[in-house]
Amino acid sequence: MRSPPPRSKKIARERIAVLFCRAGEFFQDDPLKSDRCVALARKISMRHRVRIDRFLRKQFCRHCYRFLVPGRNVRVRIARGKVIMTCLSCGRQMRIPVKKRHEERQQ
Ligand SMILES: [Zn+2]
Repeated sequence: MRSPPPRSKKIARERIAVLFCRAGEFFQDDPLKSDRCVALARKISMRHRVRIDRFLRKQFCRHCYRFLVPGRNVRVRIARGKVIMTCLSCGRQMRIPVKKRHEERQQ
């Protein structure tokens, strides 16, 4: 039995959420600390094989893994039902489809 107990996944998820919270607090004074929080959160997610929650995944760049703050180092715009985020650190884009939950449920 080498797999970790199921409880550790819950703890891992909580630690990831806390790290993103800290990253937000650090950003004003020291953005590098925020980047380190993201790196640590990714390590935890890989080690415990848990996914980083969808709303947290929008808070870092998928390409360079920097912590992103709208209006500071990421440009956010909405086009054709998609949120397009441009990372100002690496200049690359992420496209996130906007889900229309009400429409899906009605079917
Ligand atoms: Zn980037």
